[in-house]
Amino acid sequence: MTRSVVPAASLVLTALLGCIDAAMSGGAAVRPAGPRTAARASAPAPALLLWSEDTPAAPAARSAPARAALPVFLEPPTVQVRLASARPGKDLAFSVHGAYRVFELRGSLEDGARGPLLAAGDGLKRARATAGREGVVMNGELLAGKAVLVCPRNDGGLELDGRRYRGDLALLASPGQELAAVNRVDIEDYVAGVLFGEMPKRFADEALRAQAVAVRTYALYHVLNGRELSDDQGSQVYRGTELETAAARRIADSTAGEVLTHADRLVEAYFHSTCGGATSSAAEVFSVRAAGEVLAGANCASCRVSPHYRWTRGVPLAAIAGLYKGAFGAALTFEVASRDSAGRALEIAVLDAAGARVDLLPADRFRNRYNAGRPLAQQIPSALIDEVRRGGAELRIKGRGFGHGVGLCQYGANGQAHAGASYRAILGCYYPGAEIRRLYD
Ligand SMILES: [Zn+2]
Repeated sequence: MTRSVVPAASLVLTALLGCIDAAMSGGAAVRPAGPRTAARASAPAPALLLWSEDTPAAPAARSAPARAALPVFLEPPTVQVRLASARPGKDLAFSVHGAYRVFELRGSLEDGARGPLLAAGDGLKRARATAGREGVVMNGELLAGKAVLVCPRNDGGLELDGRRYRGDLALLASPGQELAAVNRVDIEDYVAGVLFGEMPKRFADEALRAQAVAVRTYALYHVLNGRELSDDQGSQVYRGTELETAAARRIADSTAGEVLTHADRLVEAYFHSTCGGATSSAAEVFSVRAAGEVLAGANCASCRVSPHYRWTRGVPLAAIAGLYKGAFGAALTFEVASRDSAGRALEIAVLDAAGARVDLLPADRFRNRYNAGRPLAQQIPSALIDEVRRGGAELRIKGRGFGHGVGLCQYGANGQAHAGASYRAILGCYYPGAEIRRLYD
């Protein structure tokens, strides 16, 4: 990848339009009523945080990060996505279709500089790599102390776990420990590969374009801030070329290089399935205070057709008690203890059979813990919980939306696209105040 120090502002394309949602919905305010965050102040201190060791599902709550300045690229940059890792003593299999060369990796994974040529050939079937005591071992032969780059001549010539990948494969060893397999791939190939992993392909083109810009922005934000991308929902679902169709490529190409920025920084472009009426503030949901107005939340009247707009779930009391290993009896219930300004639960209070509070914890942590291992149809889809009612041995919960509720609402984006909105207008609605810039041609 090549970077210059030319100020990004010189490449500003256009400012986003304001949110068209109000015009499309007749200007009706759609924020649900609900207690404000002030309710948090009156909540008692947690009695027992049995789950304090848990890591919430991504994105994790954290304090405001220092955000990297926006570079300008002379060509599409490469992003790095971890595909797999092998534990000590285990190996990792991959194949190369066609000619290939293996180099020592010099410097950082991000720069991907090629060192001495270590091996070359034509076709590699189920090569086995492992982290040996002295470095990267491939098919029993020590290649390098720390890291190698496997570079196929054919784009898409890499195969790992039955999937084909464009770009190169970096194998990184911690001697005698873990081996990581990381795909170094052109950002535009990555966007085309991720698009249909994150949004249904039946959605309208303008919604897909908005999603493509969000995917590109989210990936570059994380890479430029030194964070690793995974290939699953921890980052964005990426399956190499498996979901990369001609339609995905066309959509990605039509927005090539475009990212969301605010105050000369990339936006951490969160997105989710269905907001249920209003998106939430990243500051309130994830404690990302640096996000500012761009991720402050917006009204959304366009996702009502989503199958996830309203939902009801039965939650067995015994299942809640099970999370505490029965420590407080077999009939624990819960209630929403505080909400954000969009109506999403921020904190959940868990009560024993006598109604006494036995725990108070972040709503997403409660939801993630309860949802773990349950089929989708039984999970609590969002923290936008409107009603919790006791009915025999279970709680009947009514709520709205699917996902964390921050950033772009995918069903809302699709609704707006069908009503004639452009992808720029859609992005302007869900990331208010953001600009679209083209970082490279
Ligand atoms: Zn929505």
